[in-house]
Order: sequence, then C-alpha cells, then structure tokens
Amino acid sequence: MKISEILRSSTKTYPSLEIVPPLKGIGKDELLESIRPLMEFEPKYINVTCHRDEVEFVANPDGTYTKKTVQNRVSEVVVATAIQQHYGVDAVPHMICAGATKEHIHAELENLRYLGIENVLALRGDCLVGEKRFTPTPGGYHYASELVSGIREQNPDFCIGVGAYPEKHFESPNLETDIQMLKKKVDAGADYIITQMFFDNQVFYDFVAKCREAGITVPIIPGIKPLSTVRQLTMLPEAFSIDIPLRLSEMVAKAADKEEAYRIGTDWCIAQCKDLIAHNVPAIHLYTMTKSRNIVEILRACF
Ligand code: FAD
Repeated sequence: MKISEILRSSTKTYPSLEIVPPLKGIGKDELLESIRPLMEFEPKYINVTCHRDEVEFVANPDGTYTKKTVQNRVSEVVVATAIQQHYGVDAVPHMICAGATKEHIHAELENLRYLGIENVLALRGDCLVGEKRFTPTPGGYHYASELVSGIREQNPDFCIGVGAYPEKHFESPNLETDIQMLKKKVDAGADYIITQMFFDNQVFYDFVAKCREAGITVPIIPGIKPLSTVRQLTMLPEAFSIDIPLRLSEMVAKAADKEEAYRIGTDWCIAQCKDLIAHNVPAIHLYTMTKSRNIVEILRACF
C-alpha cells in the first residue's frame, strides 16, 4: 500500500519505523530476527536506509595506492524484499543521488517495480568521508528535487517521500531558504515529508508552521530518535547538525552509569512522542538503528 494512502486513511498517529541494512557478513535470518520484536506493533511499513559506496585507498607493495570502492552494507533493495516476503509488511527503501548515475537509479527503480515495491524515500545523500562539499556523480542527480522529478517521470504512480530539517540542513544559509528548497521537492512531486531527528518538539511545531506559511501542504512526519549513550551528546550534533536541549544534555551528562543515561534518553523520547501524539501528528518516524530494546519500550508506552 502507498504511504500516501495510509496517511490519508489513518485516523490516529501511527508509528513509522526505520532500520539500517546489516553490514555484509550478517545473514538474512539474523536481520529478520533482529527486527522481530518490532512486529508485535504491526507496523504499517518499514523504511530501509540506503548507503553509498565508500572509497578506500589500498597500499601497493611499491608504495603507491589503488583507489577501491567498497560496499559495506547489504543493499536496501535486498533487505526491503526480505522484509516484505518474510513479514508481509510493506518496505520503503531509501534512494540517494550520491554515488549513482541516473541510469543506475532508474534501473533500481525498475527493479523495485518488478518486486512490487511502490514506495521510496528520495534523498540526496551525503559527501564522502573527507569531502567538504557534495559532488554529484557525473551523469547523476545533484539535488533530491531532481531525483523526485526523475522518479515521477519514470513512475507516475510511485509514492515518494522526502527529508526535511527542522533545525535547517547544515549547508543551507538559513531555515527560510531551506524551506524554499523543500518546497521544490514537493512541487516536483513528493507526497509527504519526514524530518531529521530533533529533541525539542517546539522546534518541530515552529517548522511545520513555517512550511505551511510557505505553501507546503503535504503531511509532515516528525523523525525521532531516543538518545541512548553519553557519547551521543557530541556524536549526534556532529553527525546530524542538530541541537540537544540543555536540560537533556545536563541530565545525561550527570547520569551515574550507562543504564541511567539510557533510561533518561528513553523517558525523554517517550515524553516527546506523547506530546507529538497529543498534537495529532500523522505518524512518528522512529530511527531504530535496528536496535529494539528502547524502541519496544517507547512503542509500548505510546501506541
Ligand atoms: P536536498 O533536498 O537535495 O538538499 C541538500 C541541500 O541542498 C540543502 O541545504 C538544500 O537547502 C540545498 N538545495 C536543495 N535543492 C537546491 C537547489 N535546487 N539549489 C540550491 N540548493 C539546493 N542519507 C543517506 O545517505 N541514506 C539514507 O538512507 C538517508 N535517510 C534519511 C532519512 C531522512 C528522513 C532524512 C531527513 C535524511 C536522510 N539521509 C540519508 C541524510 C540525507 O541524505 C542528508 O541529510 C543530505 O545531506 C541531504 O539530503 P536531502 O535529500 O535533504 O538533500
């Protein structure tokens, strides 16, 4: 079923779950077992992230280096297919411009159609490690809006989601410009929006109000991740250019041990989700990172 239809027909907030494909070497059974605890909540669909190939330089005996492309994770299409076949739950593979030519992307879309997958989340993807600015692959798409147009042209019937940043995308000069760029994605044919994680709901509510003012009318789904370690206080802002509210960061920093930090992060997330539900958001997109202990607790407490 298309996410747009699910959004149209839902009468209350539902959980939307995102998993990360396993590293190569992990078998299908292990992956399916790792997400089994989430199935208790009868998810309407599961998003599967997509990871661009990394570049490595391998040392040669003569002192020179050879550039090598490595794919560290199992493909999102393979994981999405395994989930659909095993659990009978719709899967939403993410698709990125980074590292791919248009021909490659359109061949992948054809594979998806053949497999009966009619939902995708269209994204630009990030720079390679060590790169300062995003460089599109020769013959590839530069921005997610171009990818959305390309998908729409090839498959008018696909349901397309896109990403958004309540605290603005780190490359954008300001939030207003970023929202104009988001509108381009919607005008190109995106059906709905999922946000980057945030830890202060007011930031999300203000963002939605600004999007509506800018003429964006499609559903906006908040993206939420429970904080689970002290290390994430620095790692998450660094990796995702997001803020962690002072109260949360102080509580986690003062935690007596790992378990208490985990508890504080989980409780904060439960409070965030309950407040979002009280504000009638259409769905809550949980970044599970394929770890289920705190996610199960959050789902039990909120849905
Ligand atoms: P875009 O919408 O293309 O925007 C990128 C930047 O360019 C922004 O600053 C924007 O303001 C600007 N911009 C856009 N269009 C134009 C234009 N026409 N002219 C000038 N500037 C423009 N990454 C992965 O690699 N794999 C994943 O599976 C993945 N899943 C994600 C899921 C969600 C819900 C979100 C929010 C992000 C995800 N990401 C993923 C991260 C994403 O790829 C990065 O944040 C990336 O840097 C931007 O992607 P985007 O699709 O938002 O890009």
